[in-house]
Amino acid sequence: MQAWVIGNWKQNPATSHDVKALLDDLLTAVSTKAQLDGCQLMVAPSLIHLTAVSERIKGSSILSAAQDISAHSASIGAYTGDCSAQQIADAGATWTILGHSERRQYHQESHDCLLQKMTHALTQNLGVIFCIGETQAQYDAKQTLAVIDAQLSVITDLLTQQPELMAGLSERLIVAYEPVWAIGTGKVPTVAEVSATHQHIKQTLASFNTALENMTVLYGGSVNADNADSFAADSMIDGALVGGASLKAESFLAIAQAF
Ligand code: 13P
Repeated sequence: MQAWVIGNWKQNPATSHDVKALLDDLLTAVSTKAQLDGCQLMVAPSLIHLTAVSERIKGSSILSAAQDISAHSASIGAYTGDCSAQQIADAGATWTILGHSERRQYHQESHDCLLQKMTHALTQNLGVIFCIGETQAQYDAKQTLAVIDAQLSVITDLLTQQPELMAGLSERLIVAYEPVWAIGTGKVPTVAEVSATHQHIKQTLASFNTALENMTVLYGGSVNADNADSFAADSMIDGALVGGASLKAESFLAIAQAF
């Protein structure tokens, strides 16, 4: 199964000059690394840099994604500050992250909002990297699987409301399991814990529809060049969604080489 290593750059780098430098480093490193076969790389820059990044990586093996899209399509009203799935696709991105815990936490993104976003993305042929994961309190209370089931119900609702979006969904949907407490903290669950959670996610998706058997499930949260090997060695972990360590070509590529 192909591995995926995706860099979520969040609000970094701060300047277009530094974005270009990071991308140049990445493209140079990718072109000299033979061992990246079987690992698809993707970067998700902030919106302001998405067009330039997408242009720059054309013809390379790297894909680009948005970090989020509007919940509303331009045809249904005016939404100042939003960027539609159609505009994201036009900017050259082929994927979007949706439901990152920072969006859920700081922008109150709900089940219904994410259902709308997922519908818009898939309708515009954008692949979706759908983030799920529990908070520290939920982890401590052993509620991880219940939280994940509730978050995954966006996908069942999508398939109930828009059955036509099922076609090809297994190639256009990736689930990223990111425990909130592991993001940017240096704390990680054990590989066995991640593996069991991924197995549960894969079984749950397969129970929605047999076409969703063996879906791609990535782990995210404090993945770095030192711990990537241990995650990569587990057959339930199909790659990584990387924040901080994706901001240096060297560590990002080391993670990709691990998978
Ligand atoms: P870190 O890799 O910095 O923990 O961030 C993970 C993340 O939020 C990726 O979406």
